[in-house]
Amino acid sequence: MAHIIDGKSISAQLRQSVTEQVAVLRSQHEITPGLAVVLVGENPASQVYVKNKIIQTANAGMNSYCHRLSAEVSEEELLNLVEHLNADPSVNGILVQLPLPDQIDSDKVISMIDPNKDVDGFHVMNAGRLTVGLDGLVPCTPVGCIILLKSYLNDLTGCNAVIVGRSNIVGKPLAALLLREHCTVTIAHSRTRNLAQVCRQADILIAAVGRPEMVKGDWVKPGSTVIDVGINRIEGDGGKTRLVGDVDYQEASEVAGAITPVPGGVGPMTIACLLQNTLRAACLQNGIQVPHV
Ligand code: NDP
Repeated sequence: MAHIIDGKSISAQLRQSVTEQVAVLRSQHEITPGLAVVLVGENPASQVYVKNKIIQTANAGMNSYCHRLSAEVSEEELLNLVEHLNADPSVNGILVQLPLPDQIDSDKVISMIDPNKDVDGFHVMNAGRLTVGLDGLVPCTPVGCIILLKSYLNDLTGCNAVIVGRSNIVGKPLAALLLREHCTVTIAHSRTRNLAQVCRQADILIAAVGRPEMVKGDWVKPGSTVIDVGINRIEGDGGKTRLVGDVDYQEASEVAGAITPVPGGVGPMTIACLLQNTLRAACLQNGIQVPHV
C-alpha cells in the first residue's frame, strides 16, 4: 500500500510557521498583514471556501476583510471595489473568489487587481513572472502540490512529471513550478491521445481534471507519486454526498509509492499557501525581506 502524504499535518506546520512570522512582523515592524476576500453570490462551495479562508487568516494573526456582494452586482461595481482595495494600505492581499456570475468578465476583474496584492497569483503579470522564472506571487494550489511532493521525494530533479489538466489556476502554473524543480513535464488534457499510457510513464502523476475518480489504478506507474488535486462531490451511500478526487484512490493506492488523499491532501495546502502569499505580499509592499517559512 502507498504511503499517504498527509496534507492536513503538512499544512498545519506551514500555517504555524506563517503565524510565527506574522507575530515577528508585528513586533519588529508594527505591521499586521491584511487579506480582503470578495465573495459574489451564493455559490455553496465558494461560501465554504471563503469561510475557511477567513477563519484561517484570523487564526494566523492577520486581519481579514470580507466583502459579500449580491449575485446581481454589476461588473462596474465589482471593479470599483477592487480599485478601492488596491488603494487601501491596510489590505496587502486581494482574493476574488471564482467562479463569478455570467454578467462579470473574470479576466477583467483579475487584471484590475494590483499584481503586488494578487495573492491568488492569477494576474497575467504574476503568470508571466512565473513563466520566465522571476519572483512573484504564485498560485496557491500548485505551490501546495510542490510542498507535498518535496515532503516525500525531497529532490524532484529528473523526474518524469505528468499533469492531467491545463487550467490557468492549476495545470499551467504547476508545470512551470515542476520545470523549476528540474522535472521533465508533460501536460495532458481532454484532447490527449492514449491518456492512460501517458500517465503510466509518470514518476509524478498529478490529476487536476474535475472528473470523479477518472484516473484508475492501471494508469499509475508502480512506485510513483500521485497528487490528486480534484475535489468532486458525489452521491454516497444512503443518499449522503461525499468528496472524492480525480483519482480512484482505492485502486491507485495499491500501485503508487505515495498518494494524497481527498479530503486531507491538496485542499488544506491551498489555504496555507494563501496565508503564506499574504505574508509575502505584506513584506514586499513594505520593503521587508520575505521570511523563509
Ligand atoms: P478546469 O475545469 O479549469 O480544467 C480541467 C482540465 O481538465 C482542462 O484542462 C481539461 O482539458 C481537462 N480535462 C477535462 N476532462 C478531461 C478528460 N476526460 N481527459 C483529460 N483531461 C480532461 O479545472 P481546474 O483546473 O480549475 O480544477 C481541476 C480540479 O481541481 C477540480 O476538481 C477542482 O475542483 C479542483 N481544484 C482543487 C483545488 C484545491 O484546493 N484542492 C483548487 C483548484 C481546483 P481541456 O483544457 O482540453 O478542456
